[in-house]
Amino acid sequence: MQRRHALGAAVTGLAAAGCATTTAASATPFAVAQPVVPIAGGSEVFPVRRIYCIGRNYAAHAREMGSDPTREPPFFFQKPSDAVQFVAIGSTANHPYPPLTKNYHYELEPVAALHKGGKNVPVDKALDLVYGYAVGLDMTRRDLQRGMGDQKKPWEIGKSFDRSAPIGPIHRVAQVGHFTAGAITLKVNGQVRQDANLNQMIWSVAEQIAKLSEAFELMPGDIIFSGTPENVGPVVPGDLMEGSIAGLPLLSVKVVG
Ligand code: MN
Repeated sequence: MQRRHALGAAVTGLAAAGCATTTAASATPFAVAQPVVPIAGGSEVFPVRRIYCIGRNYAAHAREMGSDPTREPPFFFQKPSDAVQFVAIGSTANHPYPPLTKNYHYELEPVAALHKGGKNVPVDKALDLVYGYAVGLDMTRRDLQRGMGDQKKPWEIGKSFDRSAPIGPIHRVAQVGHFTAGAITLKVNGQVRQDANLNQMIWSVAEQIAKLSEAFELMPGDIIFSGTPENVGPVVPGDLMEGSIAGLPLLSVKVVG
């Protein structure tokens, strides 16, 4: 009876909060870790609520994926928040080759991290939501993504798996500003594979936030993988990926079998 009473109290607390999140007073039968990404230049960490990703945001990448890059509305998908794999500056993270795929692809992308939310956010206010930026990899089981797409099924299994979002520390806007241009370069084993400029994005980060906020209420803790340029390609165990974007510190990830 005691236990039942405690659960009832917890459920009442949830109902009062109006959404399915715990409060400090709520009892839970076990702990679930809050995914976080460290913030550069201090001891704070950024709590990750949702990971949104934008698809085909560079014309040349849209063409290589078989679509027409004329300005169609941007489209979005999500990864689970615990897909983040933090990669510290100056270190190389071991990234496990995931199961089920025979064609595992990198997609180097700038990531915007939000500290404010909103619905129907106008483009000219959208960057106010951004707390900072990080370098990220939208790792993709391309064969599974394509296979499901061909069958007109959701391609979540190709994108939204464990540790599919390696990410460096978040750099505050106060320190690094916003990025509308700058080199985005990925090397694999020292050879340049992706080499483009952020000014080639079809939809800017501000436009992405505005469009996203029409479909979802954005909240503090949301992060947005803002799309990859052309020349995505495969990696295999043993490969070293090194990503750099607009002068942010290098992201170094080794694929391990
Ligand atoms: Mn992507």
